[in-house]
Amino acid sequence: MSDTDGKKPLGLGGGSGRSGQVKQSFSHGRTHNVAVEIKRKRVVVPGKTGAAGGSRSGSPSAVGGDPSKRPAGISDAEMERRMAALRAAKAREVEEAAQREADEKAREEERERRRLEAEAKEREDREREEALRLKAEEDERRAREAELRAQKKAEVTKPKAPEARPAPADRAAAEAAASRAETKGVSAAAPRKTERDRAPTDDRDSRKKNSDDSRRTGKLSLSQAMDGEGGRQRSLAAMKRKQEKARQKAMGGSQRQEKQVRDVQLPETILVSELANRMAERTPDVIKSLMRMGLMVTGNQGIDADTAELVIDEFGHRAVRVSDADVEQVIDQVEDKPEDLKPRAPIITIMGHVDHGKTSLLDAIRHANVVAGEAGGITQHIGAYQVKASNGALLTFLDTPGHAAFTSMRARGAQVTDIVVLVVAADDAVMPQTVEAINHAKAAKVPMIVAINKVDKPSADPQKVRTALLQHEVVVEAMSGDVQDVEVSAKTGQGLDQLLEAIALQAEILELKANPDRPAQGAVIEAKLDVGRGPVATVLVQNGTLKRGDIFVVGEQWGKVRALINDQGERVDQAGPSVPVEVLGLNGTPEAGDVLNVVETEAQAREIADYREQAAKDKRAAAGAAITLDQMLAKAKADESVAELPVVVKADVQGSAEAIVQALEKIGNDEVRVRVLHYGVGAITESDIGLAEASQAPVIGFNVRANAPARNAANQKGVEIRYYSIIYDLVDDIKAAASGLLSAEVRENFIGYAEIREVFRVTGVGNVAGCLVTEGVARRSAGVRLLRDNVVIHEGTLKTLKRFKDEVKEVQSGQECGMAFENYDDIRKGDVIEIFEREEVQRQL
Ligand code: GDP
Repeated sequence: MSDTDGKKPLGLGGGSGRSGQVKQSFSHGRTHNVAVEIKRKRVVVPGKTGAAGGSRSGSPSAVGGDPSKRPAGISDAEMERRMAALRAAKAREVEEAAQREADEKAREEERERRRLEAEAKEREDREREEALRLKAEEDERRAREAELRAQKKAEVTKPKAPEARPAPADRAAAEAAASRAETKGVSAAAPRKTERDRAPTDDRDSRKKNSDDSRRTGKLSLSQAMDGEGGRQRSLAAMKRKQEKARQKAMGGSQRQEKQVRDVQLPETILVSELANRMAERTPDVIKSLMRMGLMVTGNQGIDADTAELVIDEFGHRAVRVSDADVEQVIDQVEDKPEDLKPRAPIITIMGHVDHGKTSLLDAIRHANVVAGEAGGITQHIGAYQVKASNGALLTFLDTPGHAAFTSMRARGAQVTDIVVLVVAADDAVMPQTVEAINHAKAAKVPMIVAINKVDKPSADPQKVRTALLQHEVVVEAMSGDVQDVEVSAKTGQGLDQLLEAIALQAEILELKANPDRPAQGAVIEAKLDVGRGPVATVLVQNGTLKRGDIFVVGEQWGKVRALINDQGERVDQAGPSVPVEVLGLNGTPEAGDVLNVVETEAQAREIADYREQAAKDKRAAAGAAITLDQMLAKAKADESVAELPVVVKADVQGSAEAIVQALEKIGNDEVRVRVLHYGVGAITESDIGLAEASQAPVIGFNVRANAPARNAANQKGVEIRYYSIIYDLVDDIKAAASGLLSAEVRENFIGYAEIREVFRVTGVGNVAGCLVTEGVARRSAGVRLLRDNVVIHEGTLKTLKRFKDEVKEVQSGQECGMAFENYDDIRKGDVIEIFEREEVQRQL
């Protein structure tokens, strides 16, 4: 700073006054103040030159110092005069400096204002450009419309134009090329706007920019005068560019707005992101739409086709459901010609209430028909067997009695049963499961034959059974209905032949046919993982013929038939319609109810299996992931009140496993339920134990055992393994365990009533009621309620129970006593005291 200060006085003149000047400039501000001093110097110079420069060095302190420093040749008067002049000059200088400062400030402000205004103008320019662009778009559109109109009509009428001003453009467009009309429209519109926008800016503009602005203002007013023609010269190229840009933008914009309706291919499940992709919408928008439906999902989660369809609708697209993937198309779905169809054996399922003799009957039918002397009658349980009726007709019996197999297969879309044999024990009545069986058969529209079993028993009353069945709309032939009924005894074998004949007859009526000369299609009735043979599935061929070497896909598995084993345990080369066979050569264990299809190549089989596996996975993921809010709430609610008994079930065959699961899932009520965490076929493994441990569940083995590592793991982790071979034992045990989860019910028993005859006030005790026990007994430990006009006004306990002067435990009916309530005093004559006890009752399911 001192550098600057030093420089200026040096450059401008007298060196002697420098120090005063520097000080002065310090006290008054910056560089400009220094310049002011120099000016003043010039003013004073005419009077006195050399010394004046020194004496003039402004500050009062310097002045005071000067006379003492400079007496040489100058009189006091002169000195005085000079001092006065100096003071005057000083005063002026101060004044001037102040003035300068003010000016400077003003200039500063001016500059700031100009800057702001420049900014404002820039903004305005931008806005103007935008406006121009919009205007250009608008005009262009109008021009195009006009052109269209012009093409349609020869003469254009003015009222049709939307606005007066663009009308010339319309005309121009109608006559000349569209581009020319556009240019005109834009240039005409643009300056008008420009001039209007700029007007206030000009007023505010300061002197320095004035010339520039006024130039512009002048031009604008000129252009105004020329109705915008003037502006064109200057900005034509720019306008054109802008216009072009605007047009491109407008085209892009209109494309976006004009929504394209798309056909969206919709598989059974689809990832949210993929759905968005197929609709060409943004994933977050799709997620938002799902949230509005109450589905909380992320882009990577799958949703089912129904939900996806709603979303597609909402976005205004069309859903195209792809029911089966293309890969499935290779499965031969050709309809058989009537002439190719040959009769086939009926497939029979035996149903009925537990213990009515289903198993016994199946066994009896089987043994009765096993060719005498055949290997000691050893039979192979493969899930189904064939027998010959006395008339030579073949009948195929499904060997898994009960409803589980039947229903679970039906649920999976595999209807394998042609005829249902309903077993009802003659010594019993129509039972719940009998009714269930009737309903199942009716629902599946499968004809029924009633086998009235156990007729060998003295207590048997077949007629009672027939009558009872009437109630369930099963009218047997003996009651002049159309349902065949046969009296049988699984024990003695009585009536078995008649039963088979009846079935054969029913089958004839049904005219069951299939085409044996085509690739096989069948249903899995049982599947297991055999230690020695690998995955094994019993397949009931429904159409075509399954041969060794056939390549097939079954559910999510595939394979090549390595061997076929029939119900007699014999290897066979092929199996035709209605023939049950064990199939070896699978790559994995399918599930009961899965459909088997023979395909041409291994690649096809693998592809289909992979596709199905993925689809199933997706479906599971979708089911698991997409929880609606309602479900969440319900779950949260349920979690509070429902106790769950988790279990892991392993069984020897799929049928048993499913039957067990179904039976277990029926256990429970609103408060307790059994939850099967996992069920499967085969030995109990370490992974089962791991799962059970995680949920603190027991593992149930039905006809299977835990392998050694699993046993060790169970011991270590304290997981309980229970083995069963009878389903009912299993179910009973689980029921008992589930009952243990039931919270004990609190039951209230009234043990007595007392009437208040008198109320005494006893110091230290409070109000004491003099009562007569009218009913039952009053007990000190019991709960009491005070009833006034049969309304409960207090519930609590007794503080005292007195007989005469003694505290007693119990007062019998008819006796008088004194009672006082704990923490309650408002008792009156005539009130009734109800005495009750609570007991906890363990409930049963
Ligand atoms: P499921 O539960 O329906 O399979 O019935 P079961 O076949 O296990 O039979 C239950 C019980 O009834 C067994 O003790 C059989 O011995 C018995 N039982 C079955 N059929 C007859 C029959 O025709 N006569 C007699 N007296 N007992 C039978």
